[in-house]
Amino acid sequence: MHDIGVLYGKIGNFLEQCIKQNPNSDVYKCATVEQIHICEEGLFKVVFKQFGCVKEVWAKNVHVNLGGVPKTLNLDEDDRYVHSHYILTEQNEHLEELFTSNDSLKIAIVGNSHSAMSVLSKLNERYSVINSSKYSFDLYGKSNLKLYYSSMEDALLDGYNFTEDDICPVTQRVNRYSGMREESFLVAKAILNETINNVTLKRVYFKDNADYDLIIECLGYKTNLIPVYKNGKQIQFEVNNGILKTDTHFRPVMKNQESIDCFYSYGLGVGIGLTEVSGGEKSFTGNIDGIWLYQHYVAEIITELNKKVLEVI
Ligand SMILES: Cc1cc2nc3c(=O)[nH]c(=O)nc-3n(C[C@H](O)[C@H](O)[C@H](O)COP(=O)(O)OP(=O)(O)OC[C@H]3O[C@@H](n4cnc5c(N)ncnc54)[C@H](O)[C@@H]3O)c2cc1C
Repeated sequence: MHDIGVLYGKIGNFLEQCIKQNPNSDVYKCATVEQIHICEEGLFKVVFKQFGCVKEVWAKNVHVNLGGVPKTLNLDEDDRYVHSHYILTEQNEHLEELFTSNDSLKIAIVGNSHSAMSVLSKLNERYSVINSSKYSFDLYGKSNLKLYYSSMEDALLDGYNFTEDDICPVTQRVNRYSGMREESFLVAKAILNETINNVTLKRVYFKDNADYDLIIECLGYKTNLIPVYKNGKQIQFEVNNGILKTDTHFRPVMKNQESIDCFYSYGLGVGIGLTEVSGGEKSFTGNIDGIWLYQHYVAEIITELNKKVLEVI
């Protein structure tokens, strides 16, 4: 993680230099965007705070990429609950004592996708939890654990059970967006093959159970919404299950089902819906998220769209 941080720092500095070379361009670090106003003549006013000062920039295009807020189940502030985000980002010192000073722990993991597998890997790295008689895990999920294969042949060779609906029509990959890859693939496959003996799959909705010592919420992220105003009135956007609805051009959809030109949002907590161009297995109903998608698929569509807008102007 440290090495990745250093690399990202270098990439950030490089991008900053590239951006600043362009006219009318700047980069504001340590700045928190607080409001966006849609103004006359198609301009946006972005209001932000930097080092205690309120500042604003005017823009023709706005991309809101503010990440997500952990999606939780815990409304009663029960301290047995922890979101995967805090385990994966190592902000969970209080778990250290729980794991090191107890002879046995019963743990529920709610959600059985990428974060859940990453959490199991992380806990195993730290406390050797897998196949340990000290720990037992119940893994709750709405669907089966999904594995990713780059072709149907690979999946068949591996004896993996899949259906037509698990195949991406664009790439022919199996579980292209929903399937576990790399380290998570190994953990998920071991659970499916029952070579991990202390993780039990539960295909039911999780209901709070007093028996658990720890409940790990692997439920992904909600949209990190900031207020957007037009004519002094805050715009109400369509939000389903915590996720901002966007159209096929990645523009947030308002309650009246219209979107705003040149105003985009995608990224963690928003994701993007499946289309014929993005591909994706029919059995996957969620929103897709991942750096490659934003750098290629999203970037291409938005660049094309902006070219058209400029042609019209
Ligand atoms: C556990 C996990 C593992 C993942 N692994 C992979 C992977 O292996 N490969 C892959 O491609 N993708 C992976 N992803 C997905 C990837 O992290 C996201 O696609 C990517 O981070 C999305 O970028 P983003 O800019 O939307 O959000 P973020 O990366 O979360 O960035 C949002 C930024 O906005 C800032 N911010 C928030 N509010 C404000 C505000 N009001 N004003 C100013 N700034 C603000 C935040 O501080 C943050 O810096 C993973 C995600 C998770 C959670």
